[in-house]
Formats: sequence, structure tokens, C-alpha cells
Amino acid sequence: MSIDLHMHSNFSDGALPPEDLVAICARNGVKLMSLTDHDTMAGAKSCRAAAEAAGIAFIPGIEISSQFAGTGIHVVGLGIDPESDGLTKFLSGTAGKRLKRGEEMDRKLAACGIHGALEGALGFADHATSLSRTHFALWLLESGHVKTYQEAFDKYLKPGRPAYARVEWPTVAESVRFIVSEGGTAVLAHPGRYEFSADWMRDALLDDFQKAGGLAIEVTSGSQSRVSDIVFAEKARERGFLASTGSDWHSERSPRPSPGMQPTIPKDLTPVWTRFGFPADFC
Ligand code: AMP
Ligand code: MN
Ligand code: MN
Ligand code: MN
Repeated sequence: MSIDLHMHSNFSDGALPPEDLVAICARNGVKLMSLTDHDTMAGAKSCRAAAEAAGIAFIPGIEISSQFAGTGIHVVGLGIDPESDGLTKFLSGTAGKRLKRGEEMDRKLAACGIHGALEGALGFADHATSLSRTHFALWLLESGHVKTYQEAFDKYLKPGRPAYARVEWPTVAESVRFIVSEGGTAVLAHPGRYEFSADWMRDALLDDFQKAGGLAIEVTSGSQSRVSDIVFAEKARERGFLASTGSDWHSERSPRPSPGMQPTIPKDLTPVWTRFGFPADFC
């Protein structure tokens, strides 16, 4: 796919600065990209400049940590002004929440006999205001507490595991309404990845998202299964969602597809980039 509307730089939990990410996009033949760091648009300006220099069209984006029925949900906002006052206000508590959670995770890991995690994780965070579970996972791996990056999540960091600490993120409806109020387009990120205790909750999430003004869902994502891609293409048809797509790329060490290498979206769906003046067949 020559369009990729979901990826991360080192302004959140990605490995590379925006300029290097753009270089990979250029190498992969990406024609339109969005940088969607978690809860920050601090990389948007340098990413846009690098993309424009490389002849790649750019839509500013963000991936907002949110919650629905106690489950963490990611809402992508496309087409938001990275310098808006509303954005600064909306994100004002985020860095503090991440640091406070980091301290709680540090205590929880210490209770498991693992010491120095906060300091270690901060060592992996190029921008400390975006301290992420990813940085804890990288430190747990480097310090030999786990054998693989994935094991860090499975053993310690995901919900239900001993070092998991909850954050009161905005609700999905709040995130969507914020994106809409900024003139952006709200996209439900990797809908196939959420673990609900019952199937109907998945539909309840789609209802809630759509009712708040959510317009698009990621029909193909590098971070969900191919079965999910098919399921959510069908959901998009049933509910009239626009289709988005992204690799959700973070780093070279991940087995996920490289930027632009996620599967293409079915031709019968209306792509989300038509909202930004690009033709449906731009890919
Ligand atoms: P945070 O925003 O700090 O809670 O970190 C969330 C990030 O951790 C996600 O964006 C993924 O990059 C990664 N992540 C979350 N859950 C998992 C998981 N179960 N397995 C692997 N990576 C995960
Ligand atoms: Mn991430
Ligand atoms: Mn995500
Ligand atoms: Mn992501």
C-alpha cells in the first residue's frame, strides 16, 4: 500500500526520529503518510518538512490513548493542527499521567523483585514526557528480566499482569468529540486488537465511537490479524465507516510490516484520505 496513516516516531514509543521514518517511507514507495504518535504531535512539524522534501504528502495525526468500558482503546485523529491551543489544553495532563504511572509500575516491578525499572525505562525514552510501557519492555529485555520484548507485556505489563497500572485516559467519546472540535477526522485504531469479555462489547464500542462523531476505522492494520482486517472491512460496509489503513510501525526490531507494507484496503470501501482532497485511487 503506498499510503500509511499510522506510525510512530521517537516522540512517543517509536525507535526513530521523524526524519528517519520518512526515509523508510520514501524507500518503501509511500506517497501519503501520517505520523500518529501516542498523545503528542510534537514530531509533526519536522515530519512534515522531511516528508515534503521527500515528495511525500503528509497529514498531521495523533493516536489518543482512550478508554471504553475499562478497556484501553486508541483513537487516531487525522488533520488536527499540531499548534492549536485546544490540543495543548487537551494533552496538558498526559505527561504527568505517564510519569505517575511509571512510578507506580516501578513500585509494582520492585514488588516482583525487579529494581531500577523507572530509571531504566527513562533511559529508552528519547522524550521523557512520552514515557511508555514500550520503554519498560525494552529495559526489561535489555536487563535480562525477560527473553523477548513480547514476554515483557505477557508477563508483566498488560492488563491483569503484576506491573500493570491503570491510567484514567479520556473516554472514547471524549477523544472523538475533541478531534471533531478541532476539525479533524476520528479513526478507530486497530479495532481487531481490543480484548473484550463479550462479543457484543465490540459492537457497543463501534456504536459509541460512531455516535460521538467517529467517521473511520482502520480496516487494515499492521498491528491486527488478517482475519480482523476482513471482519472490520465488513463492519465498515455495514455501518458506513470510511476505511483507514496503517502499518502501526514502531521499530525495525518488530515483526510488523514496514511503513506502507500493510495490506491494501478493499476497493469497494471509501478511503478516509478522500476527506483530505486525495482521490480514492491515490494509492
Ligand atoms: P502505553 O501507551 O504506554 O500504555 O503503551 C502502549 C504501547 O505498548 C502500545 O502502543 C504498543 O506499542 C505496546 N503494547 C501495548 N500492549 C501490548 C501487547 N500486549 N503486546 C505488545 N505490545 C504492546
Ligand atoms: Mn505504541
Ligand atoms: Mn495503538
Ligand atoms: Mn499505534
